[in-house]
Amino acid sequence: SQKEALFSPVSSSSSSSLPISQGDRDRVINLDHGDPTMYESYWQRMGEETTVVIPGWQFMSYFSDATRLCWFLEPEFANQIVRLHNVVGNAVTENRHIVVGTGSTQLYQAALYALSPDTDAEPISVVSAAPYYSSYPLITDCVKSGLYKWGGDALSFSKNGPYIELVTSPNNPDGFARRSVVNRSEGILIHDLAYYWPQYTPISSAANYDLMLFTASKSTGHAGMRIGWALVKDEDVARKMTKYIEINTIGVSKDSQLRAAKVLKVISDNSERPNADDSFFEFSYHVMAKRWKQLREAVHESGLFSVPEFPPQLCKFLNVVFEPQPAFAWVKCEGEIEDCESFLRGKKILTRSGKHFGVGPKHLETRKGVVSDKMLRGVENKRRSGDSRIGEA
Ligand code: PMP
Repeated sequence: SQKEALFSPVSSSSSSSLPISQGDRDRVINLDHGDPTMYESYWQRMGEETTVVIPGWQFMSYFSDATRLCWFLEPEFANQIVRLHNVVGNAVTENRHIVVGTGSTQLYQAALYALSPDTDAEPISVVSAAPYYSSYPLITDCVKSGLYKWGGDALSFSKNGPYIELVTSPNNPDGFARRSVVNRSEGILIHDLAYYWPQYTPISSAANYDLMLFTASKSTGHAGMRIGWALVKDEDVARKMTKYIEINTIGVSKDSQLRAAKVLKVISDNSERPNADDSFFEFSYHVMAKRWKQLREAVHESGLFSVPEFPPQLCKFLNVVFEPQPAFAWVKCEGEIEDCESFLRGKKILTRSGKHFGVGPKHLETRKGVVSDKMLRGVENKRRSGDSRIGEA
């Protein structure tokens, strides 16, 4: 049937009617862990422009700029962060301290350390509205800190006293724009804006929050550089975050910061040029738009699933009206399938169940890149050839 065809064992031969070999039967499509390699072809096209050469004797010191609050932040990287936010218009950088981290994952931990009250009181609750990014509870409770503790879904949080609320906007996993939901005066907010870039969501205004987290992993696709940055209004908080990173890793790789500075510079340079062919955000916007179109078609054809519908909005950077196109898909099984993850696992497609995100098993997330390139190619080939098997692993 059509439904079976969509998730049948994958085939390496998309246009012939050869039987499926044992090797192909054993193949698995892993959509559990995302990886932003979908932007590789853009960076390949940029060629030498982003190449960084570092002689062995250079950048040996722990220090980058001892006069700065964040003494391990490379000045050129700081300049390029400010420049890129100004070019894109997605965050206010005036009167902010920049703290660099080994990915925004380290900065999240630094923020928890810096924002937790310095008292002997019980650990402060850390909450986020479900569905929330599945790593938050794991990172928060990893070392069973005496300072902070995962408090679960912010929507059902009723404890009195101070709390930390994490606001991810656009949200991982469902892609919706978000605001804080607890709305009590004792709340301390962390805004994770990893996906507030024009390839994923319309940029409607410059975010202007007290503590904002960004990462190269999602903005430029350079997850392997392990570089994130925080824009922090309060000097004491920025100082404490810096202290945490000093204690944790004595700073952040200079090699990575210099590479990140170059990558950000190329994006800003190309965005400011009138030639749209070279614009990173034009390129990445089209990659995501194409994948969402294909994903929505596949979901529609299957009759088994649904994905979120988003209201269109004007993006002031790209100057187009579009619907958010997240880096992942929050898929709901419709009808009788109770456990979407197990159902797809049976079809050799690995996903992450809704229960990791604080909701039920009817939901699941497929990660970065939405559906693998090869799987989508399978959808195209099927249409061309009339073959009933789709997807290649
Ligand atoms: N926040 C969100 C919402 C994410 O999805 C991710 C990566 N999956 C991160 C933070 C962590 O990113 P980084 O690679 O910078 O540690």
